[in-house]
Amino acid sequence: MSRKTGNYDIIIAGSGMIGTSLALALAPLALRIAVVEAVARKEVEQPSFDDRSTALSRSTQRMFEAMGLWGEVLAASMPISKIHVSDQGRFGFSHIDAEEQGVDALGHVVINRVLGNVLQSHLDAAKNVDVFCPARIERIDLGREQACATLKINDGEMELSCQLLVAADGANSSVREMMGISVLKRDYGQRAVIGNLLTEKSLDQRAFERFTRQGPLAILPVAEGRAGFVWTVSEADADRILGLDDDEFLAEIQDEFGNRLGKFSRIGKRASYPLTLSKAARLTATRSILVGNSAHGLHPVSAQGFNLGMRDVAALCDCIADALSDSIDPGDARVLDRYAVWRRTDQKKLVQFTDSLVRLFGSKRPGLGTLRNIGMIGFDLIPGVRRTFAKHTMGLAGELPRLSRGVPIR
Ligand SMILES: Cc1cc2nc3c(=O)[nH]c(=O)nc-3n(C[C@H](O)[C@H](O)[C@H](O)COP(=O)(O)OP(=O)(O)OC[C@H]3O[C@@H](n4cnc5c(N)ncnc54)[C@H](O)[C@@H]3O)c2cc1C
Repeated sequence: MSRKTGNYDIIIAGSGMIGTSLALALAPLALRIAVVEAVARKEVEQPSFDDRSTALSRSTQRMFEAMGLWGEVLAASMPISKIHVSDQGRFGFSHIDAEEQGVDALGHVVINRVLGNVLQSHLDAAKNVDVFCPARIERIDLGREQACATLKINDGEMELSCQLLVAADGANSSVREMMGISVLKRDYGQRAVIGNLLTEKSLDQRAFERFTRQGPLAILPVAEGRAGFVWTVSEADADRILGLDDDEFLAEIQDEFGNRLGKFSRIGKRASYPLTLSKAARLTATRSILVGNSAHGLHPVSAQGFNLGMRDVAALCDCIADALSDSIDPGDARVLDRYAVWRRTDQKKLVQFTDSLVRLFGSKRPGLGTLRNIGMIGFDLIPGVRRTFAKHTMGLAGELPRLSRGVPIR
């Protein structure tokens, strides 16, 4: 019996938040693209487009603008005008203000599932993108002339070949492993509990980040006047917290956050995510490349994982578009090298920044409490420092590729 085959310019492994965005960003170029996704998006257990809320940075907004998607994403999201950062039990607090930064909004919050609906409808309409789903990449073969991937699809197998294979299959990427790239992993011993609730006082376009005894608690404005929360709790206490009934959970999270937003009520469904730092040792192998969480998995404290992955997408699109105009194929070593050099600094800085936030605010070491107070207060008093921090959280620091500047790729 003959096996089904297909030949493409680019194969993207994983159609989560990053893989889908990459396919859409590349779609205007003269390329044949295959996207392979293991879990159907309508499945409740789709691991990327779930009930989490994601804060989209300004550079991600610009990318969606350049891709012609922003109108729909904006309609499905809530703007953040102010970010209020505080440390439980200490008097220092800090704020970042959109007006002070000279922007309409510091970012926008969208529910992953809702963003998924917008992205998927455009992917369905992209004529040069074939989606294989549910299908899993089981084996790869990286050669000098082409890369091949064997897919498990229904009960059979399929062979696809391409010039460039992109691993966008998340922090536990099996494609990365097949590429022979090692990964540094550190378990934070924490879990993120997410959900949404109603606050007595309106969030009024404000996002809150509070460093609690358990770990950071973020409260974000989401649709229908509700507040999405991401609460980091210690692994040792996670099962107890997840086992609390709604009233007990509300009382506990209220106790940690305080009364700044009045009484919490009407909690929605809760879910939890184990938190690990992961960092790939390199970003490329022969005719293959890593983007998004397969390259770097961050603690959600800085709300930057997706945004950082989108900057990978923007840089890769520039590298590929420039290569095509010079008649260079997208899997050429020069394209891969340019991408790896371009992304190294931004990824390294954000991994270090996020990790140091977790350590600073998670540590019980004596003396660090004072440092945290000085950090919070000092941070707020020095507009220059705050502006630099805000530039990073908005994704506007460093050399910006076309899409991050809001310029269409073609
Ligand atoms: C609680 C929490 C809150 C967060 N909040 C924010 C935030 O506010 N802002 C922000 O920027 N980031 C945030 N993040 C980070 C963000 O969610 C991730 O960075 C982002 O989802 C990564 O997307 P990805 O597509 O790279 O990986 P994933 O989301 O892991 O998607 C990988 C996809 O690949 C598929 N797949 C896996 N293996 C295979 C295979 N062999 N073959 C085919 N398909 C495969 C999977 O089914 C999945 O669909 C948060 C993370 C957490 C845990």
